[in-house]
Amino acid sequence: MRKLKLLSLLLIAAALIWGGYLLLRDLSAPTLTLAPADGTVSAKRSPTLTVADHGTGLKHLQVTAVQGGQSVELLNRDYPAGTAQITEPISLKGLQEGPVELQVRAVDHARIRFGSGNPAELAATFTIDNQAPQISVLSTHHNVNQGGAAVAVYTLSEEAAETGVKVGDRLFPAYRQPSGAWVCFFALPWNMPPSAFVPKVVATDRAGNQRSAGLFYHISAKTFPSDRLNITPQFLESKIVPDFQQFFPEIDDPLELFLKVNRDLRKENIAKVFEVGQQSAAAPLWSGTFLRQPNAAVPGYFAQPRVYLHNGLIIDHQTHLGIDLASTARAPVPATNAGKVVFAADLGIYGNCVIIDHGLGLQTLYGHLSQIDVRNGDPVTKGQIIGRTGTSGMAGGDHLHYDVLVSGQQVNPIEWWDPNWIRNNVTDKLALAGVTGL
Ligand SMILES: [Zn+2]
Repeated sequence: MRKLKLLSLLLIAAALIWGGYLLLRDLSAPTLTLAPADGTVSAKRSPTLTVADHGTGLKHLQVTAVQGGQSVELLNRDYPAGTAQITEPISLKGLQEGPVELQVRAVDHARIRFGSGNPAELAATFTIDNQAPQISVLSTHHNVNQGGAAVAVYTLSEEAAETGVKVGDRLFPAYRQPSGAWVCFFALPWNMPPSAFVPKVVATDRAGNQRSAGLFYHISAKTFPSDRLNITPQFLESKIVPDFQQFFPEIDDPLELFLKVNRDLRKENIAKVFEVGQQSAAAPLWSGTFLRQPNAAVPGYFAQPRVYLHNGLIIDHQTHLGIDLASTARAPVPATNAGKVVFAADLGIYGNCVIIDHGLGLQTLYGHLSQIDVRNGDPVTKGQIIGRTGTSGMAGGDHLHYDVLVSGQQVNPIEWWDPNWIRNNVTDKLALAGVTGL
């Protein structure tokens, strides 16, 4: 009899402990996260809601939209016990444009509060915008040479999160001017077939609404005559091995080292130039035509296909993406226009290299220098000596390798030496955006 009483007491105690455990094992409410947390959204780019409950799990979720005093239920759903995390897209279809408040309420499976669970609430305010920006193109007659640059000027009906001219799958970014107009330097890349060139202005607002607009353009196709370069054993031993072994210490064979440098290091260096080209001043820093390296012959042209030979055999093909300018050894190198130094260091095949930003995505590059006289961040004036020519990097003799770049894309430097081309294609167009005095 006493044994039975003891047993029942033990059972009652166990039941109390179990009940207490069930009641108290989950005291924390679900966590609610909206992404984005606020700002502008659209029916196409609506917020997503993540609910996490690592105790008993999410039981019920309700999302209500409140607009102008009216409530619309967007979501009302039950979840099985143990639902630790869910992510639900919140559809805004059918809601009015303008401000909206989203009210979220969730409870978990905890037995607390007489079984009603731990509640969590969240309210967030958004603006619904389903309208894409309207684009008005102000510039007309875009004459583009293959491998050359062009400028588009346009206005947008609203703020843009991203805008520019799309060429192929590349977006050339536009820069907003004090007048409110957008200016975009873009290019017909040297290696794009003219038939594939269909530039268009694109603009995406902060809610993800995107619109595009065509441009009137005329293409002048160009051919780029090739050149043959003989890679001699002497060039391999006196240039490639001493200057480039450090990049690929595992390669013993000089010819193999040359090919690695000419292919892989070249690609890596061009990628760096592109990366530097993505940051540019929003205002033009240059004026007038660009200077040409004084008294220099041109041993290498822009977009020149180069065939590399060794012992009479073709060993490689690459394209020369700048212009080579040779005068006397260690000739002073002037900045070809005003701007700001954005790169001044060794850059593999380019050797000692300076990149000057002229604003609006326009940059110039100076390679193979024997001496650099400027530092990163320095402002420079047109004609200011930034260094001296040399043979650093992949150079067979003393010369300046000179690139003009549009948002990291190499373009033909010759256009920038021609005051008529600049007036017709650049400054007259920039004037449409209220940018004058160049
Ligand atoms: Zn060159």
